[in-house]
Amino acid sequence: MSDVSDLVAAAQHTPVVVIGGGIGGLVAAYECAKVGMPVILLEASERLGGSVHTVEIGGVRADAGAVSFAADGAVDKLLAALGLAELGLDDKRVAQQATSRSTTSARGFVSLPDGVLGIPANPFLTDVVRVVGWGGAWRGYLDRLRPPLTIGHENRLGALVRKRMGAKIEQRLVAPVTRGSLGLAPDEVDASVAAPELNPALTRQGSLSGAVAELLGTASAQPRLTLAQGMDTLVAALERRISELGGRILIGTAAEAIVRSGDGYRVTGRTVAEAQGDEGTPETEEFSAAVVVVAADEHAARPLLRDLVTLPATFSPQARLTTVTAIVDTDPTWAAGIYPQLADSDIASIDDLTAQWGSGSGTRIIRARLGGVVSAADATAQLERVLGAPVRDAVVVDFDAAPHREQRGFAAAAARLRDPNLWPAGLGATGAWLSGTGLDAVVTDAQNVTERLRRGALFS
Ligand SMILES: Cc1cc2nc3c(=O)[nH]c(=O)nc-3n(C[C@H](O)[C@H](O)[C@H](O)COP(=O)(O)OP(=O)(O)OC[C@H]3O[C@@H](n4cnc5c(N)ncnc54)[C@H](O)[C@@H]3O)c2cc1C
Repeated sequence: MSDVSDLVAAAQHTPVVVIGGGIGGLVAAYECAKVGMPVILLEASERLGGSVHTVEIGGVRADAGAVSFAADGAVDKLLAALGLAELGLDDKRVAQQATSRSTTSARGFVSLPDGVLGIPANPFLTDVVRVVGWGGAWRGYLDRLRPPLTIGHENRLGALVRKRMGAKIEQRLVAPVTRGSLGLAPDEVDASVAAPELNPALTRQGSLSGAVAELLGTASAQPRLTLAQGMDTLVAALERRISELGGRILIGTAAEAIVRSGDGYRVTGRTVAEAQGDEGTPETEEFSAAVVVVAADEHAARPLLRDLVTLPATFSPQARLTTVTAIVDTDPTWAAGIYPQLADSDIASIDDLTAQWGSGSGTRIIRARLGGVVSAADATAQLERVLGAPVRDAVVVDFDAAPHREQRGFAAAAARLRDPNLWPAGLGATGAWLSGTGLDAVVTDAQNVTERLRRGALFS
């Protein structure tokens, strides 16, 4: 098909159903609507955005879910393309000011040294000694005296640090950082993915701490940005553009089944019409589509795909996580956030959102992340215990947690799920369980998956 008018007509006669209204689903729907394909997006919950969830706290908008994205990355470029100002939305992007973290210790908060994934360049720094003791520091220094080793066969970050610098540095400096930033224990982290430049630097320098020193000297940290009015501004922009392009968005409608029907598919949606004052009576509705994009989380996506795609086993059982966003009235004695020691609580990280976005002293808005589902009362109590200060106006939200690309084995598992031979024509899946968690990765994946489906439907 080469004639442009044929292409326009083909697009208009290629209906698309997108399942899931997180960022992955919204981007997929926008990419299809943009070329004139009629799109229906189904979102099971009463809210679009999924893991992007801005809440109101003390009269201020704060992100309980995803908060930052890379300058000049896929989200940044998408925001420019969407034209927020034209849509009447605040398009102000704020650059992250400070990323340093503290950890907990018997003697209060201690700054984590500049390093790579918590590995210090100098084990004798005062703050390192305060956390690992003199024994731990001397053991870390032995790294400088031992023959070099490349990551080669040892790509477990934890094992590498233990071998070179000892268990104390691994457990007290690296483990809080990997848990706080990636939700992983050091041995679950693939060093060659999480810090690809470490291996060559280690070979050049002959020690792990020397490699870290070299990288700190040359690194130009990639700036992170957020949106001044909260990340759900991105959700609102996508929603408006999809509607402008004629797409339909049905919230409160869960996809229950996808079956083959002729050359295409039929999707059954179940609507809980609470919004219509209907006392929540469920209704089912069927949608025909030439293209279906499943952009739900793994837990919901697998049963929908079961009869259509033979998917390899799950990479890791789907986890949940809880965040507490709250106000703390004291001026903190910690840096822009805390990665607590593991024994202290279920809290993996506390971020001072106000400090990170450059606001001065005074009342702080903080956000803590805890592994698993924790009750609101327990989550708040743990937060107050770690901070040693009362918090107020706490908003507790739980989320699906997708795997990180840095997790050992993830890249291979994702490649198996992506095998094109598994997927019938017109059917695709996208989202953090396939791309690895992170807005930039999810946006890129949704754009790539949609591009492949669009090409298959319109040019074959
Ligand atoms: C607390 C937290 C903080 C984060 N911070 C950052 C950050 O600062 N920077 C960053 O880049 N990334 C961050 N991330 C990761 C990022 O937010 C996610 O990777 C990304 O938003 C996932 O998007 P998604 O569309 O794949 O999935 P989701 O956001 O999970 O969306 C899936 C959607 O599908 C819907 N759904 C499920 N089943 C059905 C069904 N049967 N029918 C219809 N709809 C269905 C769900 O209700 C949901 O809305 C964070 C994640 C969390 C949880």
